[in-house]
Amino acid sequence: MEQCIGAVLREDVYAERDNPPFDRVCMDGIAINSAVLDRGVRRFTIEATQAAGAPALTLADADNAIEVMTGAMLPGGTDCIVPLEEYELSGTVVSLKANASGAPYRNVQRRGSDSEPGVPMLTSGTRLGAPELAVVASAGLATVKVSREPRFMVISTGDELIEPGRPIAEHQVRRSNAYAVVAALRRRGFGHVANDHIRDDEETLRERLTQHLSNSDVLILSGGVSKGKFDLVPKVLKDLGVAEVFYQVAQRPGMPMWFGMAPGGQAVFGLPGNPVSTLVCLLRYVVPAVAVAMGAKRELPEPLPLAAAVKFHRAVAYFLPVSIRYDEHGHAGAVPRPPNGPGDFLALTKADGFVELPPRSESFPEGFVASFYRW
Ligand code: AMP
Ligand code: MG
Repeated sequence: MEQCIGAVLREDVYAERDNPPFDRVCMDGIAINSAVLDRGVRRFTIEATQAAGAPALTLADADNAIEVMTGAMLPGGTDCIVPLEEYELSGTVVSLKANASGAPYRNVQRRGSDSEPGVPMLTSGTRLGAPELAVVASAGLATVKVSREPRFMVISTGDELIEPGRPIAEHQVRRSNAYAVVAALRRRGFGHVANDHIRDDEETLRERLTQHLSNSDVLILSGGVSKGKFDLVPKVLKDLGVAEVFYQVAQRPGMPMWFGMAPGGQAVFGLPGNPVSTLVCLLRYVVPAVAVAMGAKRELPEPLPLAAAVKFHRAVAYFLPVSIRYDEHGHAGAVPRPPNGPGDFLALTKADGFVELPPRSESFPEGFVASFYRW
């Protein structure tokens, strides 16, 4: 079951038994028959002790009590738990304090009260976080059907890019994007994430992409999707039979994004190479699309109000890095952290994620509620 942490459930999970499976004691104390309180009984002899994990005892004399522990079965002949804070114990005799009270099923969780019979506790498409795994375990399931993990191939393209650790010349830049993409995917629980680098050369791209398409479910390329002379990615992908679904999105940054589906069903994302664009497109499009393809229920982004007005009014969506701040009332707000440009990766370290501001003809006032995506 531990292999299913964070996975998407692909079956409904039903209760194994009633939930709770028996009338369950939920306080340490004594179990009594509450009706005797109406007759004024305030002193009880303890007949026996009922621990959690033991079959239910039965009270022999209705005027007596059975000492009980949290999690135990409610003893037969009793219907109420008086917690130990409400009585004094002397030997085996309990004297109720003045504030002690009792009523049927006080401090008892009734059998079946947590779940409705016949209704699934979890439905297909649920992501298995901590509470969900507890439910799977409580249903008695040692194994559960989940989506297979997709195999990702993260590919950076560009003749100028140099691997960290290697010598670098003035005209070259570090290959940083691939690591940001791998990090974002690994952080989201994806385990099968490989990466590669390909030069801006048509023949090499053709060869290596053919190979990657045969070993992966999702290809995430960065760079080479704009309109420059060496932006060869869309052409090569099309030559390889990857059907273009869309090219270019009315957004800033990340306008040149490309998406297509390969004949074998593999999803191919061509993200613009500028580091801010790459990361924003990954989180805004790739991660949610993969979740849906895995059968997950739609997970909506968090709504977050702007902590300051934002001057931007154009017919494109605007992705703005922000940090979260809590005001004096404890309310969260998004503080704009605009980067210097789409290559300013350092600015992203000062932000917690980004907000999506929709296309609009007026600026965004403070308090405008935007969709927030965490890095
Ligand atoms: P491109 O989308 O290939 O036109 O690249 C746009 C800008 O992003 C260029 O300045 C590239 O040098 C830069 N760039 C592309 N890929 C990467 C990468 N993997 N890491 C860092 N910068 C990159
Ligand atoms: Mg390039």
